[in-house]
Amino acid sequence: MTNILDLNLAELKQWMKSNSESEFRAKQVSDWIYKGIWKFENMNNIPQATREKLQSNFYIGIPELVEEYTSKINDTRKYLFALNDGNLIECVVMKYKHGNSICISTQVGCRMGCKFCASTIGGLIRNLTTGEMLSQIMKAQHLIGERISNVVLMGSGEPFDNFENVIKFLDIVNSENGLNIGQRHITISTCGIVEKIKEFADMDMQTTLAISLHAATDEIRMRSMPIANKYSIAEIIDACKYYINKTNRRITFEYALVADLNDTTRDAEKLSVLLEGMLCHVNLIPVNEIKENELKRASNDAISRFKDVLEANNIQTTIRREMGLDINAACGQLRRSYIKGNKVNEGV
Ligand code: SF4
Repeated sequence: MTNILDLNLAELKQWMKSNSESEFRAKQVSDWIYKGIWKFENMNNIPQATREKLQSNFYIGIPELVEEYTSKINDTRKYLFALNDGNLIECVVMKYKHGNSICISTQVGCRMGCKFCASTIGGLIRNLTTGEMLSQIMKAQHLIGERISNVVLMGSGEPFDNFENVIKFLDIVNSENGLNIGQRHITISTCGIVEKIKEFADMDMQTTLAISLHAATDEIRMRSMPIANKYSIAEIIDACKYYINKTNRRITFEYALVADLNDTTRDAEKLSVLLEGMLCHVNLIPVNEIKENELKRASNDAISRFKDVLEANNIQTTIRREMGLDINAACGQLRRSYIKGNKVNEGV
């Protein structure tokens, strides 16, 4: 059985054609699905015989809700979903004045090994399919009863480690036959896989690219991000410049501030030199402390001193709002604590 959400409209049309059905049925089926009708039997403008054919070839892969947490501090909601094969993934919905934003996962687990991240503790279990990424948005919209207008690929997983499925996802999420969310309302975050940054640049999409940099020197980056052993900061910055030249889009650099590691004004000065003259923006993230590592959140003073240095060097800087600290909102924390608390094997 195939998850029908893994198919784009052209592929569904092709399926209809090769199954002796009219191609226009593909658009009708797709309209139902994206309107929230997730049973073929309820698609009442589709002939019974076609519905039966669909039923025996496809399933509509909407995940099951396992747990839901709403932050008492703000209206952030975190969902733990079970996929068709029982694997667990999580996503976070954040409410802003300008609309609802969702942070979705792109893999079950992650193999990148960043020390500050709970998603990677059990390694990579598997890639998510295109449909499994789309369905997180669809299910979340259904649960909150409102449209989601911004998507961030910054949950569990490294999006560029699942490149093909992510690109197909971007296409469907953006399509008016899909979720119809503008490319400019989508942010894709990578820990810095250089070849893929360049490949993505060549696609000339209007999506925002965010780089998880988290250090201004290779030596410090290597301490928390094993990917730094493969790609130097210089190579990443080169790839970013290539991206900016190709797309004329501003890059966001994510920088998680960790006490006694990368939060001094000297680090801020080094970062300023690195980013000098680039079309970019720095997003400072007070690191989430997780039980499995010994990283400590930088103090508020250190965070604002860091910001001051960057701004004095004409680098646009923001401090990320801390969302849902009371609900383990950082990536991978909820899945991890659920697996532990319920003694579920990882990778079920
Ligand atoms: S921060 Fe992102 S890339 Fe790094 S381990 Fe976590 S999910 Fe993977």
